[in-house]
Amino acid sequence: MDAMQQQAMAEAQKRTRNLDLTRIDMANRRLVDDEYGYCADCGDEIPDARLAIDPMAERCVKCA
Ligand SMILES: [Zn+2]
Repeated sequence: MDAMQQQAMAEAQKRTRNLDLTRIDMANRRLVDDEYGYCADCGDEIPDARLAIDPMAERCVKCA
């Protein structure tokens, strides 16, 4: 693998990490606001099974 490819991969990884951090941050804010676990669109409770798979899910299965 050449240097250009390595650099491109490092960049892609950095972007993914930043996206994860943003989602964690948003989930944290919802926890503080007591909105965690409720769909951002319809306000329905997000099922525990869904949160178990994606703890940072913002929307229920219907709205996702
Ligand atoms: Zn919903």
